[in-house]
Amino acid sequence: MNEMIFLLLVFGLPAAIGFRLALARGKNPLIWGLLCIFPFFIVILHFEKPKHEIKGHFRLCKKCGETFPWKKTECKYCGTAVSDQGIAT
Ligand SMILES: [Zn+2]
Repeated sequence: MNEMIFLLLVFGLPAAIGFRLALARGKNPLIWGLLCIFPFFIVILHFEKPKHEIKGHFRLCKKCGETFPWKKTECKYCGTAVSDQGIAT
């Protein structure tokens, strides 16, 4: 019983983190979820930037082509304001 909880924490938690990070970056969440059982891959995934816009997670600057967090409304690389047309609310 306790071993199950232990296994879930050791393997399930990093896998769940990897799954969510991969989803936010437009990568395959199943593959990255498995890789993130080794926490080394969580670090790689964390610093990996998506190459395209992912609604709700990353915006793509139309001027310089860089991606930056969705909650920011201007590009952190060139300062171009990005409209909120992608947000429904
Ligand atoms: Zn930019």
